[in-house]
Amino acid sequence: MTRIDALLAAGPTFSFEVFPPKTDDGRQQLDAALDELSVISPSFVSVTYGAGGSTRDLTRDLVIDIQSGTGIPTMAHLTCVAHTRSDLLALVGQYRDAGIENLLALGGDPPADGGDIDGELTHASDLVDLVAGVGGFCVAVAAQPEMHPRSPDRASDRKYLAAKLAAADFAITQFFFEVEPYLVMMDELAAAGVHKPVIPGIMPVANLGAVDRMAAMSGAAFPDHVRQRFEPVADDPDAVRALGIELATELSADLLAAGAPGLHVYALNRSATTLAIHANLGLGA
Ligand SMILES: Cc1cc2nc3c(=O)[nH]c(=O)nc-3n(C[C@H](O)[C@H](O)[C@H](O)COP(=O)(O)OP(=O)(O)OC[C@H]3O[C@@H](n4cnc5c(N)ncnc54)[C@H](O)[C@@H]3O)c2cc1C
Repeated sequence: MTRIDALLAAGPTFSFEVFPPKTDDGRQQLDAALDELSVISPSFVSVTYGAGGSTRDLTRDLVIDIQSGTGIPTMAHLTCVAHTRSDLLALVGQYRDAGIENLLALGGDPPADGGDIDGELTHASDLVDLVAGVGGFCVAVAAQPEMHPRSPDRASDRKYLAAKLAAADFAITQFFFEVEPYLVMMDELAAAGVHKPVIPGIMPVANLGAVDRMAAMSGAAFPDHVRQRFEPVADDPDAVRALGIELATELSADLLAAGAPGLHVYALNRSATTLAIHANLGLGA
């Protein structure tokens, strides 16, 4: 059992995100990926929480299973939307009782169909406070180098990011494709007096259509000059994946050289891409 803030204090971390599978086949694929990824002794793994709390029990059970089965410190994502305060306190208590020490406190998104699933807590910072009230957890928050899509302007985005990060232990970012937005955000946080670690989230491009959809939802730009590098191979899925790994490796190396405190790869329940980036960076040496 290990708090991630203690790992970060000891040097750069290498971690990845998975999501709770909804089928037996999906679970088998995830278990195989975790076996293969265990070989590189990842610093930690994080498990997403379905939009609107749709994977509430699946996420909880998977977090507890991974940590007890693999010994890899496992962080549970948790969102405000669709939960009462007592729902959240119950879940946080179950994590504490199971020896989970790391939580990622998120606002969550309103449903795409405009349905009403408000919770009692509104912002991630409210959840940071709730978890702090329970005590004993290392608490992370989400950071958006290119601003959250619901933020009305940059000043307000940075103000609320700085405030929630000041109350938390570290942050993990939304994915991005260039070093500069990350470094600008770090400067803005430093100017606001916040010096907590912010781990870049790394999304290796595997499929151009999927990246376009995710970029549109998250507000992360997929820059033209990056897209142009994919154009010559756009009809060859293997070549797109290989180039995605190459670009993710370049970005990761530049970020580490610029002082990033670690890397968190969006592994999508598979091992090959994450293992390739780890090997390319020479982190296993
Ligand atoms: C690393 C990472 C992991 C994620 N994992 C998941 C997941 O597992 N499940 C899931 O459903 N979603 C996940 N998300 C998506 C996340 O839930 C959405 O981006 C959501 O829209 C906002 O979450 P947040 O924690 O940034 O919210 P918040 O910090 O609450 O911010 C949301 C918006 O509210 C504004 N705001 C914040 N505080 C205040 C305040 N006090 N007053 C006024 N405005 C304020 C912010 O500026 C921002 O515009 C993840 C995102 C990241 C980056």
